[in-house]
Amino acid sequence: MPFKEGEKLIIVHYGELWLRGKNRGYYINVMKKNLKDQLKGEKYSLKQEYDRLIMTLSKDSDIESIRDKLSHVFGISNFEISYTTKPNLSSINKLSKKLLAKMKDKKIIKVDAHRSWKGSKFNSMDIIDKVRTTARRMGFEVTNHGYDAVVKVNLTKDAAFVTADKVRAQRGLPVGTSGVGIVLLSGGIDSPVAAWYAMKRGIFPIYLHVHGLPDNKDVMDSKMAEILKILKKYSMHAKIYTVPAHLFQIKAGKSGKYELVLLKAFMMRLAEKVAEKEQARVIFTGESLGQVASQTLSNMTAEAYGVNTPILRPLVGFDKEEIIKVAKEIGTYDESVKPYRDVCSINSRNPATQIDIDRMKELIKEFDVDKLVKKSLSSGSVFEV
Ligand code: ATP
Ligand code: MG
Repeated sequence: MPFKEGEKLIIVHYGELWLRGKNRGYYINVMKKNLKDQLKGEKYSLKQEYDRLIMTLSKDSDIESIRDKLSHVFGISNFEISYTTKPNLSSINKLSKKLLAKMKDKKIIKVDAHRSWKGSKFNSMDIIDKVRTTARRMGFEVTNHGYDAVVKVNLTKDAAFVTADKVRAQRGLPVGTSGVGIVLLSGGIDSPVAAWYAMKRGIFPIYLHVHGLPDNKDVMDSKMAEILKILKKYSMHAKIYTVPAHLFQIKAGKSGKYELVLLKAFMMRLAEKVAEKEQARVIFTGESLGQVASQTLSNMTAEAYGVNTPILRPLVGFDKEEIIKVAKEIGTYDESVKPYRDVCSINSRNPATQIDIDRMKELIKEFDVDKLVKKSLSSGSVFEV
């Protein structure tokens, strides 16, 4: 029997990945690689079984740390912290009783069972009936709706797994399966959330930040480094291009009400150059249509003028409240609201709200934005977090 009685396991489920037909193997392999990367230094062993991964833990495994790390891996829909026993009804019942005894804070429970191996003499309903009876005798109310905990039994040929601790994970696609994307990252609330949505659809993000600080190094001493550390929990690695805004400001500071939209055009063009270097196929921003006076459709169109790399704006349909809710869930909100000298806020006094493409073309020429992009990029730095 490959599983030892009483062993602690984590059963990892990957939901959506199963829908991906021919590419399924690829998605699962990347997810496994990410999971191993995420759990570097932790004590466990891993094997694939049926449509899930099984992690075996040892006595010195740090379960809280593993739990936290696993909950940040995209591609995992949920995981169950489980115990093993022999694949017969009385062993299953005994283990369930032991787990139920630890659930004193719960009153109403659901009992669920699944057979990955159908060769047993009893079926899922027999397991459910048995455990339900035990739970009722222990004083629990048992129902299928409105419960506060679930006890779930998984039956395989060699062992049964019982879990009372199911953890919802990130879902989505494994980071990297959709290639690399450049994320325009500001110090605000929105762009870290946009980065998270990009990662959720399998993008490995490389960040680009335009700053108004004296030195590139200063960015890494600011809250930007803290935001990056949080985002890194989801992607395991984080790389950022920091580019100073001063060359732009000296020259295009004279463009008056167009300065903000021109700064955005400058950022998009910078992002395209970084995308070329990094073989990225897409640019992400945290813009949301109409959120501030300058985020109009005509400004968004104009700032993207001449940029051939697709620009995706995952938050385009979000209200600020909805964005804040996600920012809190993913853990970036508290850092995002800390004070920071963002270049956009310096530049946003009375900005133009309706700029057409012809005016944009003139401005880009007049202020020689492409030269500014080249010079500024060569004054930038790259950091790995
Ligand atoms: P955020 O909360 O992300 O700062 P915002 O609502 O403040 O967004 P803007 O300041 O207009 O809106 O910025 C819109 C988007 O432009 C940002 O989400 C980000 O993708 C990009 N951006 C803004 N400032 C910078 C910057 N300094 N460096 C890189 N990208 C930036
Ligand atoms: Mg901002």
